[in-house]
Amino acid sequence: VIEMGTPERSVVTTCAYCGVGCSFKAELQGDQLVRMVPYKHGKANRGHSCVKGRFAYGYAEHSDRILSPMIRDRIDEPWREVGWDEALSFAATKMRGLQEDYGRRSIGVITSSRCTNEETFLVQKLARGVFGNNNTDTCARVCHSPTGYGLGQTYGTSAGTQDFDSVEHSDVVMVIGANPTDGHPVFASRLKKRLRQGAKLIVVDPRRIDLVRSAHIEASHHLALRPGTNVAVVTAMAHVIVNEGLTDDAFIAERCDDASFADYMEFVRDPRHAPEAVESLTGVPAADLRQAARLYAKGGNGAIYYGLGVTEHSQGSTTVIGIANLAMLTGNIGRAGVGVNPLRGQNNVQGSCDMGSFPHELPGYRHVKSPETRGIFERLWGVEIDHEPGLRIPNMLDAAVEGTFKGLYCQGEDILQSDPDTKHVAAGLAAMECVIVHDLFLNETSNYAHVFLPGSTFLEKDGTFTNAERRINRVRKVMAPKARYADWEVTQLLAQAMGADWNYTHPSQIMDEIAATTPSFSGVSYEKLEEMGSVQWPCNDASPDGMPMMHVDGFVRGKGRFIVTEYVATDERTGPRFPLLLTTGRILSQYNVGAQTRRTGNIAWHAEDLLEIHPHDAENRGVNDGDFVRLASRSGETTLRAKITDRVSPGVVYTTFHHPDTQANVITTDYSDWATNCPEYKVTAVQVSPSNGP
Ligand code: SF4
Repeated sequence: VIEMGTPERSVVTTCAYCGVGCSFKAELQGDQLVRMVPYKHGKANRGHSCVKGRFAYGYAEHSDRILSPMIRDRIDEPWREVGWDEALSFAATKMRGLQEDYGRRSIGVITSSRCTNEETFLVQKLARGVFGNNNTDTCARVCHSPTGYGLGQTYGTSAGTQDFDSVEHSDVVMVIGANPTDGHPVFASRLKKRLRQGAKLIVVDPRRIDLVRSAHIEASHHLALRPGTNVAVVTAMAHVIVNEGLTDDAFIAERCDDASFADYMEFVRDPRHAPEAVESLTGVPAADLRQAARLYAKGGNGAIYYGLGVTEHSQGSTTVIGIANLAMLTGNIGRAGVGVNPLRGQNNVQGSCDMGSFPHELPGYRHVKSPETRGIFERLWGVEIDHEPGLRIPNMLDAAVEGTFKGLYCQGEDILQSDPDTKHVAAGLAAMECVIVHDLFLNETSNYAHVFLPGSTFLEKDGTFTNAERRINRVRKVMAPKARYADWEVTQLLAQAMGADWNYTHPSQIMDEIAATTPSFSGVSYEKLEEMGSVQWPCNDASPDGMPMMHVDGFVRGKGRFIVTEYVATDERTGPRFPLLLTTGRILSQYNVGAQTRRTGNIAWHAEDLLEIHPHDAENRGVNDGDFVRLASRSGETTLRAKITDRVSPGVVYTTFHHPDTQANVITTDYSDWATNCPEYKVTAVQVSPSNGP
């Protein structure tokens, strides 16, 4: 890809990195993509972008792309390049054979938050309609599944409440466990603009992220909590709001469930939740916490934005619930400037969850146990849908080790690198008899695969992504698929090879099927998206042009439900051998495990993962800035360079996870969220010691 010249034509499409969902004009000379220009009519970005969307698309042309299907009988054999027909027939025969030998629930799928809504819909349809089970899960399992649970239980739907425009009306913004400057840069710019206009900021994060103090911005409060104590902090804020009479009683009386509120009040009033009572646990000075709670409750329109620092904990779902409670207590729901807003990491986390990727939910967050919901799909698909929820990713791996789960179709997700407890993932994959990896590049997971099906980039297909504000954006084909087929076509070919009568000729037909089966999407069509540019679900008869803001007159579940948020300490404990707590994040120029950003051909993308360590902790260990250090936990160890900084508190260290060499997930534990199994990536007890290098 070259970055020059006068374009001959352009195609408007959507960035495939983060959940902001910026629109771009992809400019071409002939068939050559020469430039990505932020699209000024894009409703999520209005002509703005960050470096990733603007420049990091070179991976589409990288020589590492695998363009021919490959198969092998055993994972210790070399790959054999074959034609598409042979690869698909090989895969279909293996998967059908496994079901004959071990039962229909012995195989499953993993969908990807990187792929389009239409592709994700088809992959879960493959599991439910062709495999005949609900063994479908998504990589959102390891990021925002607690959002699905927490917001579903309290408000009735798994989605952010506001559009991005809403922040322009906020008076107080609380950012919890998120670093928008690096993770969601275009939204961060809008937030910073509002802060420069005078809105107040509360940051709840173990690390002094950029927002705490940057150009013309200074947070009113930085609650630098000890990793793993989110629930205690959020509950203490609620305690202050309740005990100091800062609640919005009219909102609660009108909009919330009486019985759940009474139970919650009894719980939250207890003195054991007072900021003073949890100060030594959380490390947050009680006076700061009290002032922050008062500011959020009485500072005008209060908005909460949160990220993986909330969800990737053993109590991730409890913290999401606690945040939802805070917003209801203070009446900060249902108008511009307020709300509860998960900042989604990947481009289509929202969409992959909407499309029924979870093993207990059909599209639109409807439980598989509902005969009415199953009936909608059964009538259309002409199959009987399994009424038992299927296996989550960790359960698939457990079952594989135990010998009952034998085959996996994994689209657009490198579970061996991105899921916790690498050794267990490897053991699970090694125990399977057929692993089909459908991806752009060979990766860690494909080392255990028997079939490799080449994937397509976002530039090579039509479809839609749904961003963090529920905005459905069109993805438009900029160039022909380099490996002949777009991902949705490959899934269809696999389904056909297994005997299914699928005959989609364009992703718009898949969207029509989504609309026909999913009430919150019933008004969505490619025609509407062409006409409106984008639309925010729910889009149906009740809101034909979509809904920028949710829960305006009532919650989706009717009355908002308060839920008690008892703090339970993680089982991961520091001690003499592992006295420090490791938490993780990402940098602006890199993206997740770096499969794409490391292949952009631009040296700027190759910054290494560093270990941030406080000067006191570094001095105690004889570590100088830039030294190699050994980072060890109970699970494993790795080597990386130290960066000495007071951004982290004493006792806390921090790193990113962009490079496979660093293997941060060798370090992390296998603890997970109690409700959803989302891994506890953000709390690991570690030791740091000098090293001579890798
Ligand atoms: Fe892409 Fe997110 Fe950057 Fe926008 S902010 S260009 S969606 S990575």
